[in-house]
Amino acid sequence: MPPVIDKEKCIGCGLCVEICPCEVFDIDHAPKTVPVVLYPRECWHCNACVLDCPRKAVDLRFPLHYMITTTDAAALNHKAGD
Ligand code: SF4
Ligand code: SF4
Repeated sequence: MPPVIDKEKCIGCGLCVEICPCEVFDIDHAPKTVPVVLYPRECWHCNACVLDCPRKAVDLRFPLHYMITTTDAAALNHKAGD
């Protein structure tokens, strides 16, 4: 899944547009404009937009296949108390 921007939190600073290495976002350069997720399939899930957003307005929804192939089973067992 692509990044999702919470329009209530976003202040339209444009930082996510600038830092995204895949140019997933586009923004109208009018002040305080919420970016648009223009190319969702280009997202690498690098998490940069989530980490750098000053308002914590970006949420990443990881695809199921990504979660399955990158989840550490040992860590899950540890959390479960095994
Ligand atoms: S970095 Fe955050 S606050 Fe700034 S435009 Fe992107 S989503 Fe909005
Ligand atoms: S997770 Fe990375 S690649 Fe995906 S939209 Fe955010 S900055 Fe761009």
